Amino acid sequence: MQISTFSKYCRQSFVLLTIFLFNPVLSIAQQQGELRVEPPCWWAGMQHEQLQLLVYGKDIAATTVDFRYPGVTLKEAIRVENPDYLFLTLSLGKKVKPGVFDLIFTSGGKKVFSYPYEIRQRRDGSAARTGFTPADVIYLLMPDRFANGDPSNDNMPGMLEQADRSNLSGRHGGDIAGIRKNLGYFNDLGITSLWINPLLENNNKAFTYHGYAITDFYRVDPRYGTNADYAALVNEAHGKGLKVIMDMVFNHCGINHWFINDLPEKNWIHQFPEYTRSNFRAESLTDPYASEADRNRMLQGWFDTNMPDLDQRNPLLKEYLIQNSIWWVEFADLDGIRLDTQPYPYKEMMTAWTDRIFKEYPAFNLVGEAWLQKESMTAYYQKDAIVGDGYNSGMPSVTDFPLYTAMNRAFTENEGWSEGMARLYYVLAQDFLYANPGNNLIFLDNHDLNRYFNSVGKDLPALKMALAFLLTTRGIPQIYYGTELLMDGRESDGHGEIRKDFPGGWPGDAVNAFTRHGRSDLQNEAFDYMRKLLKWRKECAAITNGSLKHFIPENGLYTYFRKAGDQTVMVVINRNNEEKTMKMSRFAECTTGYSAGFDVIFGRTVSLGQEMSFPARSATIYELKK
Ligand code: CA
Repeated sequence: MQISTFSKYCRQSFVLLTIFLFNPVLSIAQQQGELRVEPPCWWAGMQHEQLQLLVYGKDIAATTVDFRYPGVTLKEAIRVENPDYLFLTLSLGKKVKPGVFDLIFTSGGKKVFSYPYEIRQRRDGSAARTGFTPADVIYLLMPDRFANGDPSNDNMPGMLEQADRSNLSGRHGGDIAGIRKNLGYFNDLGITSLWINPLLENNNKAFTYHGYAITDFYRVDPRYGTNADYAALVNEAHGKGLKVIMDMVFNHCGINHWFINDLPEKNWIHQFPEYTRSNFRAESLTDPYASEADRNRMLQGWFDTNMPDLDQRNPLLKEYLIQNSIWWVEFADLDGIRLDTQPYPYKEMMTAWTDRIFKEYPAFNLVGEAWLQKESMTAYYQKDAIVGDGYNSGMPSVTDFPLYTAMNRAFTENEGWSEGMARLYYVLAQDFLYANPGNNLIFLDNHDLNRYFNSVGKDLPALKMALAFLLTTRGIPQIYYGTELLMDGRESDGHGEIRKDFPGGWPGDAVNAFTRHGRSDLQNEAFDYMRKLLKWRKECAAITNGSLKHFIPENGLYTYFRKAGDQTVMVVINRNNEEKTMKMSRFAECTTGYSAGFDVIFGRTVSLGQEMSFPARSATIYELKK
C-alpha cells in the first residue's frame, strides 16, 4: 500500500494555522531575563576551528561582547533583523584548552549580560568513533511507547500535553529510564544497535509522542528525562555492546519552537500568504523536466500545519543545524544519526552537513530517510551516487523503500514471473544503481508503516521467511520494536495502532513480554527464531561483510549465497506448501568444494547431495562445510 507521506507523523488534521507566527508568549530567555546561548558548550580540538554562537536576550544586538581566553578570538558579531539575537563567530585554535570563560555583553559601558562559556575536553577516541555497519542489526523503538521507567516524569511543569495512556494519539509515559531498565532485553534478543525516535523537546498541545515537532534542539524532552539521562543511557548501552543512533530532523521543527515564536530573521522559515503544504513529490528534485513551481512547493511547503519548514539556505540557520548534530555526537557519544525526511531540506545543505560530520568523525555512519519508491531515486540520495546530475549527498546509508515494498509482497502473493519472491530478485538486480547497496538500511516495517505481521495476514511462517531474508541479504537490517512479539497493527487505522505500548513496560501491566514467562507460546516462537538468527548473524562474516550471489527464483524457491573468504552461507527460501526437492547442480559455482552444510536454524549438519529437499514455507540456512 502506498502510504501518503504527509501522514507519516500523525493522521489527524489540525486547525489551519496562519504562518504569521509571532506568538505573544515570551520566550524562556526573556521571561527569565537571562541569556540563551547555543550551542551551550563546545569542545577543544575539533577539526572545524570556527564556532557560531546564537545569543538570545532582550536587545542583545545593542550590546558589545568581550571575552578573554587563550586561543579563542571573535571573528565576527552578526546582527540580524530581530534585535534580541546576536550571532558570534569564534575562532578556536587547535591549541585551545578546556576551560570556562565569561562572555561579557556591555551597553553604554555597563555590563548587561554575562554567560560562562565552557570549552570541554573531548572523550578519548571521540574523533575515531565508528558508526553502525552491516554487522549491526538496529532495533527501532518509540520512546513514549516502549517502557515507563519513571512515572513521576509523565507530566512535567511547563509541558503542554499531559499523559493519557487511554488515548492512542496521546502521551503514554515511556521514557529514557524505561529504556535503561531494559537494556538487557536487547542483549538477550541479539540486537546490536538502537534507533530511538526523537527524544528532544516537543512542547506542543497534542500528538507530541512521536517527537518530530521539535521545540528545542538542545533539550531532551523532560517527560523522557534530561540531557544527562540520555548521555547515561548511551554510556550504559555501550557497556552492553549496544550502539545508539539519534534521530534528527532538519527539514522542519515544531510550531512552538522557541525561535519560531520570535524568529531571528523572517527567512529562517518558508512563509506564504496562506498555509502551503509540501507536494511531497521528491521526484521533482531530480526530474530533468521539473517546473520551478513544483520544486519549490516540494522544498518549501510545510510538512504539516504544526511543522514550520526551515530554510537551510540561511547561512546562520544552516550552521546552527550542523553544529547541533555535532554537539549531540560529542555530548551523548553517539554511534550514528538517522536523518528524517532527507530529500526535503535543500540538498546543498545535506552535503554541507555530511561533509562536516565526516570531517569530525571519518568512520561514523548516517542514514537518511529517503522515502522513495524507485531504486534510482533512492540511489540518488546515497553518498557517491553514480546516477543523476553529479550531486553527492555524502549520506552513506539510505532507507531502502523499494526493497521494503518488495518484502511486503514477496511472501504473500502467488509466485509469478515478476510476483512473489521475484520482487526481491528484481529489486536486488538493480543494485548497480547504488554506490554502496550493502550500506542500505533494510526493514520490514517502521513507525510509519503497517506492522509486518499485519501485512502478511498474521502468518507466522511468512514472518519467519521474511526475517530470514532480512537478516541474510545485503544491507543493514532494522527491526521495529514488537516484531518479536508479533505486534499487529494497520497504519490506515491510525498511527496509534502501529505504535502500541510494549507489554510489560508499564508498572501494573497485565503481562510482561520482556520475560519468557510473560510471552505467549507463539510470541516465544517468533522471539526465539529471531534471537537465533540475530546471534548467529553477528558472528558470521559471510553475512556481515560478504558478497551476495543469487539465482532467479524458480518454482517457489529462492536460493542465494553469501561469501567472505572461506566462509559460504547458502539460503534457500521455499514458499511452497509442501517440501520441495531441487537439483543442486544449478548452484555448482557456489557449492563446489563443499560437502556438507550446517543448518543454522536446526543446529544439525547435512551432507550436500545431488538433490536436496527443503521444507515447506520456510527458509533453510546452511553454513557450508568442506
Ligand atoms: Ca515516564
